[in-house]
Amino acid sequence: MTLSANTQTLLNRRAVLGAAYRLFYAEPLNLVRGQGVELFDGDGRRYLDAYNNVPVLGHAHPAVIEAFTRQASQINTHTRYLHDTILSYAETLVATFPAPLRQAMFTCSGSEANDLALRIAMTATGGSGVIVTSNAYHGVTALLAGMSPSLGLGVAPAVRTVPPPDSYRTSGDVGAAFGQAVAEAIADLQREGIQPAALLVDTTFASDGIFVGPQGYLDQAVAAIRAAGGLFIADEVQGGFGRSGQLWTFLRQPGLVPDMVTLGKPMGNGHPIGGVVTRPDLLDVFGQRSRYFNTFGGNTVSAAVGLAVLSTIQQQDLPGHAALVGAELAAALNSLKDVSPLVADVRGVGFYYGVELVTDHQQKTPATAEAKAVVDALAQAGVLVGVCGAASNVLKIRPPLAFQSEHIDELMQALRGVLSGMPGQ
Ligand code: PMP
Repeated sequence: MTLSANTQTLLNRRAVLGAAYRLFYAEPLNLVRGQGVELFDGDGRRYLDAYNNVPVLGHAHPAVIEAFTRQASQINTHTRYLHDTILSYAETLVATFPAPLRQAMFTCSGSEANDLALRIAMTATGGSGVIVTSNAYHGVTALLAGMSPSLGLGVAPAVRTVPPPDSYRTSGDVGAAFGQAVAEAIADLQREGIQPAALLVDTTFASDGIFVGPQGYLDQAVAAIRAAGGLFIADEVQGGFGRSGQLWTFLRQPGLVPDMVTLGKPMGNGHPIGGVVTRPDLLDVFGQRSRYFNTFGGNTVSAAVGLAVLSTIQQQDLPGHAALVGAELAAALNSLKDVSPLVADVRGVGFYYGVELVTDHQQKTPATAEAKAVVDALAQAGVLVGVCGAASNVLKIRPPLAFQSEHIDELMQALRGVLSGMPGQ
């Protein structure tokens, strides 16, 4: 028997990479090239990328390639030497945040950014308790695995979970319900003698199912953690760099200034960069008590790439583009309610949407198998999206910000075709 090239690759992969990695799609893709919002497999088949937030400017963007090659051909060192590029980058970056968020530190990933933010929070507050949402994902380190209940391993002893501000399943004021849940989690920590250090939330609540709530929906929760002596860490690893129609998702909330913001994924358009933007007083305390050296974090090439990505986002006003063209996407996705009774709730902003599928609107029963079938059928049709949510029943639509109206048409044609062909329609 001769095996197909993909089957052989799957076997090789299992043999050499082991059991812990997962693949997307019933028929995994072997992608060899990307350009803008298009991806191509080894047979030259084209896919529309409506999923990947990392290549925020689009795959193989020339500004990133140019910055990378220019800097890599000169020098690549670390933060123990002086270099102007990291300063230009840090200055440009922190200037996009409200005061007093005026300092930045750099890492190689979103996980390292969250890990560093937690170290700073624990040092500055003296606390160790952390509150996260019930299906959160915050990263790969041992510390963060204990704060990422979506991994299915439970949480660490000093961590408490709260339900996300779920606008679909909460009746009444989501902000009040979320604030109340955080207050109860704080009280629970305190009862056990654990001082709260931080409320750590993804400002898009991506793995919880995407909830970018109404104005003020985080205010009560943030007030509660601060009243208890803890800090508010906004994890913008998913929501940052223009996705929400603003450069930072928390900016949609008037007056909300986190104590720390963590960054990653789109920050290098595919190059591994992460970071923490925070207040000088917090870094002063951290720097007095400890030190931080991350061999590759903030290296010269990464700083040059990060600067190119951020400058391009600003020059092209990609947040504005996401807001404008994203509104078309929102309207189109809402029209799917007329195409299939599975479509129960469409939520999101800019270029980030969750389309929740249920089998029963009264009971709100998650259509988990159906969501997987839709995502697999879309991939077969040449359009890539994903799923999220505790029950994996929310279609996750999160394209590069280079997405245009014509791509929305292509995505919608595929979505309508697949949804109208689902059994029971
Ligand atoms: N925070 C959030 C909200 C994330 O979605 C992720 C990655 N999925 C991380 C942190 C971790 O980032 P990384 O994979 O770059 O370590």
